[in-house]
Amino acid sequence: MRPFHYTRAGDVAEALRILSQDEGAALIAGGTDLVTLMRDGISGPSHLVDVNGLGLDEVRWLPGGGVRLGAMCRNAANDSRLRRAYPVLSEALRSGASPQIRNRASVGGNLLQQTRCTYFRLPEFACNRRNAGSGCSALQGDSHAQAIFGASSQCVAVHPSDFSVALQALDAVVLTEGTRGRRRIPVDQFFRLPGDTPQVTTELRRDELIVGVELPDSPFAARSHYVKFRERASYAFALVSAAVAVEVRSGTVRSARVALGGVAAKPWRSQAAEEALVGARLNEETIAAAGDAAARGAQPQRHNAYKVELVRRVVRQALSELG
Ligand SMILES: Cc1cc2nc3c(=O)[nH]c(=O)nc-3n(C[C@H](O)[C@H](O)[C@H](O)COP(=O)(O)OP(=O)(O)OC[C@H]3O[C@@H](n4cnc5c(N)ncnc54)[C@H](O)[C@@H]3O)c2cc1C
Repeated sequence: MRPFHYTRAGDVAEALRILSQDEGAALIAGGTDLVTLMRDGISGPSHLVDVNGLGLDEVRWLPGGGVRLGAMCRNAANDSRLRRAYPVLSEALRSGASPQIRNRASVGGNLLQQTRCTYFRLPEFACNRRNAGSGCSALQGDSHAQAIFGASSQCVAVHPSDFSVALQALDAVVLTEGTRGRRRIPVDQFFRLPGDTPQVTTELRRDELIVGVELPDSPFAARSHYVKFRERASYAFALVSAAVAVEVRSGTVRSARVALGGVAAKPWRSQAAEEALVGARLNEETIAAAGDAAARGAQPQRHNAYKVELVRRVVRQALSELG
């Protein structure tokens, strides 16, 4: 591990000042991802800025509806009102990692955790995301866990977060603060697909930090569900997951959200699946059509054609359990 300075920032302004003055500075929240990367020589910040003391750990219900989760709220998801209002969110969080890790991991850190692509995590392999222009060993290597949507010739890695998939289904907004002011970035626009610059994974600027996420009060949030398929039940990252949310009135689907995890470098919204649901009754036939629509357009790699069928099944299961 490289030597580094450590500052426990007293407020957001202090954290931003260090970020803008020191190009090698990195924020540390729960440390459950960053410390592993530092230990393994993947990341070597010159200055760690601890954001645990910034007072960003509040769950605030908004007067007009919706809720704001501070960036330092933990992934333990033990707020019962949140569980009732946004079931998909708590289910996604509880499906991730272990209780010990969830008690430490934060909202902001979860969004910005790095891919679990083996070739990114082992410095002896080429990785355009870790080292721009160095190549992508995954293209010739084991691709069983890689992307089937939105990949590029530069990178086929997937985003590992369960939480973000739920946020995508809930139309959440990422709240940031930077030296140039505050921004509200819809989750769908916050994450980037790899294209020619896979090393840039989000819209967050170097001199910005996440202060929280906001969940709107939507008609589909309370009827939402998360299903995750993984290699072992104790804890593992999603091979494919689905976050679904549906508003049904008089037996007909009025609005719907379908987001997929484990299939792209960002939580993948399937508008085709949503369109298959809206205006129809939530029956077996509609659910099957939504599963098929979600898998349409997939471009599997050499070893992951199984994910295409898995998308169909996970979406169907999520919608059936919801219905
Ligand atoms: C064994 C294991 C199993 C796991 N399984 C799962 C799983 O199944 N599903 C899942 O979704 N996740 C899983 N995780 C990942 C876990 O959810 C993340 O490690 C965690 O959410 C990261 O949060 P953190 O607060 O510890 O972030 P840190 O490790 O502290 O930081 C991660 C990144 O976020 C940046 N950052 C942190 N806070 C902010 C902020 N406020 N603003 C800007 N940047 C910030 C840091 O600079 C760093 O780049 C697993 C982790 C482990 C170790």
